[in-house]
Amino acid sequence: MQKPTRTVTSPKKFIIGSDLLSEIDEYVRAYGDHAFFICDEFILERTREQAGAALAQAKVGASYERFGGECTQTEIDRQLARFKASGANVIVGIGGGKTLDTAKAVAFYAARPVLIFPTIASTDAPCTALAVIYKEGGEFDRYLWLPQNPDVVLADTGILVAAPFRFFAAGVGDALATYFEARACYLSDGVNLVNKKPSRTGLGLAELCYQLLRENVAMAADAVRAKAATPAFEHIIEATIYLSGVGAEAGGLAAAHAVNNGMSAIPQLHNAQHGEKVGFGLLTQLVLEGAPEEEFAEVIRIMKTVGLPLSLDEFGLTAFIEADWRRVAEIACAEGDSMANMLRRCTPDQVYDAMRAADAIGKRYA
Ligand SMILES: [Zn+2]
Repeated sequence: MQKPTRTVTSPKKFIIGSDLLSEIDEYVRAYGDHAFFICDEFILERTREQAGAALAQAKVGASYERFGGECTQTEIDRQLARFKASGANVIVGIGGGKTLDTAKAVAFYAARPVLIFPTIASTDAPCTALAVIYKEGGEFDRYLWLPQNPDVVLADTGILVAAPFRFFAAGVGDALATYFEARACYLSDGVNLVNKKPSRTGLGLAELCYQLLRENVAMAADAVRAKAATPAFEHIIEATIYLSGVGAEAGGLAAAHAVNNGMSAIPQLHNAQHGEKVGFGLLTQLVLEGAPEEEFAEVIRIMKTVGLPLSLDEFGLTAFIEADWRRVAEIACAEGDSMANMLRRCTPDQVYDAMRAADAIGKRYA
């Protein structure tokens, strides 16, 4: 039996505000005197100008490298070599989840601090002590579990509010499952993302995550459509970037993410966002739990507010192939997956039926 060690793990600092690129010297200086930026192409010039000016004034060195587009071992090795050649001593990742995962992995191999600057709010990549590594062809390779969370995570509201709406919505989908998965994991006394027992703090962070989504999602969606950072948008960013990540890490995952993992077996869903699949996984989890109608209604209200797909039709699936979805259920119930954190043991047949029912419930509300 596993020793009941409980954990709360988190980045050392989470900063939320505007114009943070121009203030980045304030955060870099605590960790080194030469920053190595791994940057998405679209923001590379802006980083050179804004962060570069701030660092030059603070007499902190800066080197810049464009992210190659996929978080592969080859890309990590290439960035690591550039980092070593540059003479820098602190790493800054600026971009989407894959860029951030690459920066975290490079910092791990170099044993140096890392600052994380997400430009979209669609996943838990910024705050977690995990990098997802892919093969050259884009398929999943392996998880790289890191001994530390990032040192600093900087959420710039001006940059995040200007990102495409779909990424904002996907972040809401991923964050929406956090509370329900942490609740399941806590009740079942399962294991969290760092393979320890969930803490009450983890469940509390997940509860706050859900509360912020319930109270702010509609106003925040308006803010994104208007590309205007508002307090409601800040609350959602705090939920999707910070609470969703640390809530899952300390509180644990359950059926919603297990179903998401299973859905990777459906080729037509390869372009679906992680948070979109997690949203459908959450509906499946609520069916498995026999959740009350009010709980479905509230979850679906939030999903509809940001246009997340409620049914398989809304994912653009034209045909339902039973064998494919039986396979999804098998993968979701695989040994070691977070389905084991459900209060009642779930079989592939039960998960298959729950997905069919979730699809029907989603259609009713659509
Ligand atoms: Zn997730």
